[in-house]
Amino acid sequence: MTAPIVIAGAGVGGLTAGLALAQAGKKILILERAAEIEEIGAGLQIAPNAGRALAQLGLESELNDFGLEPQAINIRDNNARLLARLDLSVARQRWGAPFRLFHRADLQQLLLNKVSSRPGVTIETNARLENFETIKTGVTLKYEGVAGGVALAALGLVGADGLRSIVRDRMMNTPMDALSYAGSVAWRALAPADEVYEVFRRRESNLWLLPGGHVVHYPLRDGKIINIVVILDARLDEDGEKQIDGDTLRKRIISYGAAFELADLISAAPLWRRWPFFIRPMLTTWTQDSVTLLGDAAHPMLPFLAQGAAQAIEDALALGQAFAAPNITVERAFLAYEQKRRMQAQKVVAASRQQGQYFHLSGGLALARNIAIRLLGGKGMLARNAWLYR
Ligand SMILES: Cc1cc2nc3c(=O)[nH]c(=O)nc-3n(C[C@H](O)[C@H](O)[C@H](O)COP(=O)(O)OP(=O)(O)OC[C@H]3O[C@@H](n4cnc5c(N)ncnc54)[C@H](O)[C@@H]3O)c2cc1C
Repeated sequence: MTAPIVIAGAGVGGLTAGLALAQAGKKILILERAAEIEEIGAGLQIAPNAGRALAQLGLESELNDFGLEPQAINIRDNNARLLARLDLSVARQRWGAPFRLFHRADLQQLLLNKVSSRPGVTIETNARLENFETIKTGVTLKYEGVAGGVALAALGLVGADGLRSIVRDRMMNTPMDALSYAGSVAWRALAPADEVYEVFRRRESNLWLLPGGHVVHYPLRDGKIINIVVILDARLDEDGEKQIDGDTLRKRIISYGAAFELADLISAAPLWRRWPFFIRPMLTTWTQDSVTLLGDAAHPMLPFLAQGAAQAIEDALALGQAFAAPNITVERAFLAYEQKRRMQAQKVVAASRQQGQYFHLSGGLALARNIAIRLLGGKGMLARNAWLYR
């Protein structure tokens, strides 16, 4: 019996990698430590670069069924003045796929359905990867399953196990690679659409720039719910409240200078969950023999360009394509994949961080930024990010 390639983690990255490797004819075992494959959090913007990759993996019709296509992005300052309106209707023609907005659970489910229907793919939940060792013929690994510890021989291991990746920890094995707090916290919530102003129910994404923060909101699931993310620069209080109600966050956001329209939107959502942001250093390599990293495990990024999942999806496609070369070994395919992806993904990591600094400017710098956005206009603002979507 052929040994499988093991993927640790069934997030967006791991499931898409399973799909891409199965498409390349590989036998796959996906290990997921959670009891059930479900996404916490709420909305996910899937930009054209990721939409194109998913379409190549045969998901176009599912994307059309479950995704909501926003027609524009409105950028406003904290006083609710419109700075620019980016017309997204050009995306399909310009970049080969539209922008789409998903409930995370829907995207996760459609990926899971697709990958489980592929021959040669096994998915095991309640299966936490504990350790691995590279050997001549691949890798041996140990995981904790429902029935206890399991030892397994595999042809290769893909660490798609997220920001706090065990595969990365074991591979790098240095305190220099530790996580550090990035200086801002997200509060995330869903509001019923009929509780918010009509203007916020439109099929559009919205970005508000505040001194020391920003807010993103957009409709999901045919416009029935509104996904809202509030990001504020703040000191990390590990013991602080992990959930708060809408009125508490409303008061907090007013202290960041938010207009009343935005404050009202915040109180429309009853419960807000905290999400502090962490970063890790950039890696000079992702691959060691027959072990490689993918998605947040390889290149965690701040979500200010909405590209974390998109880059994980691009990784997955490239990983599958690397096996197209005849008789290629797992080691060589993993290296080819890393060579194709590392520079671009790390460029996105750096750009995401800069985008956060730009969004959170205050005082005179914020005024100068707002003038620059007005001068660039919607077309210019969209063109700024064209390198990501191409
Ligand atoms: C507020 C916010 C908004 C965002 N918005 C967007 C957006 O709009 N668009 C976008 O593209 N990206 C966005 N992102 C980023 C995106 O969510 C992540 O980049 C993406 O989910 C990473 O996917 P992943 O599969 O690499 O990792 P994860 O989603 O973290 O999945 C890792 C999986 O591995 C499992 N796991 C961990 N350890 C083990 C182990 N030892 N054994 C087995 N399984 C294990 C975990 O349980 C998990 O299921 C956002 C992020 C945040 C925080």
